[in-house]
Amino acid sequence: MTEFASTERTQVRRLPKRAVYDREAIYRILDEGLVCHVGFVADGRPAVIPTGYGRDGDTLYVHGSVASRMLRDLAKGVEVCVTVTLLDGLVLARSAFHHSMNYRSVMIFGTAAAVEDQTTKREALRAFTEHIAPGRWREVRPPTESELKATTVLAIPLKEVSAKVRTGPPLDDEDDYSLPVWAGVLPLDLRPEQPVADSRLSASIELPDYVRFYNRHR
Ligand SMILES: Cc1cc2nc3c(=O)[nH]c(=O)nc-3n(C[C@H](O)[C@H](O)[C@H](O)COP(=O)(O)OP(=O)(O)OC[C@H]3O[C@@H](n4cnc5c(N)ncnc54)[C@H](O)[C@@H]3O)c2cc1C
Repeated sequence: MTEFASTERTQVRRLPKRAVYDREAIYRILDEGLVCHVGFVADGRPAVIPTGYGRDGDTLYVHGSVASRMLRDLAKGVEVCVTVTLLDGLVLARSAFHHSMNYRSVMIFGTAAAVEDQTTKREALRAFTEHIAPGRWREVRPPTESELKATTVLAIPLKEVSAKVRTGPPLDDEDDYSLPVWAGVLPLDLRPEQPVADSRLSASIELPDYVRFYNRHR
């Protein structure tokens, strides 16, 4: 299926021309992002927790310590709404009202379930590590049995998903175009700075290419 079906919940009503349901386009956004926000209700109270994630096929994985409140609550099979946002620019209009942002964002609705199967759990952790730095999993020490035990992995199926994308210049009121105010887009991008080697790193270990040429736009 190349498109996610738009459901009662995922049908974009506000500015529907910005809606995207194309699976490939949505997965590109998910694969570029680094942080998701997981919203859920626990004990009748809402909470939104920022956390890392990984994707393997049509599943999004979040993970953490077995002591994590979020993971403990969610492992019981709680409904979640997960968002990932890429901020592409500040849209500076001639009026305060029409200021905006260029963005690509994804919203996922579903029920998180704890991953019990050890092989799937390892695969999820591989997806997690590769999501952060592709190529890293084959170099690092894999998790031990006790590390696996200390880690909760939750799977969220990518079934009910939407994206919304804004691009382009500010959209001002016609009368405002003659105002003497700078208007346009200030593009924003996530770029790495110079890598800082760990103080205990052996001098013989070279900087890997996936760090040297790190780039989220894959
Ligand atoms: C960086 C950023 C800044 C924003 N700033 C503002 C702002 O200042 N004010 C404002 O009103 N809105 C802003 N938005 C848009 C905002 O995310 C909502 O789309 C908007 O507020 C409409 O919400 P709604 O619940 O009425 O949408 P509805 O269209 O009623 O939502 C219905 C369904 O559409 C989908 N959907 C809605 N919004 C998104 C989204 N952003 N990404 C993916 N799927 C979506 C979901 O499946 C949702 O359940 C911003 C978005 C981003 C990413």
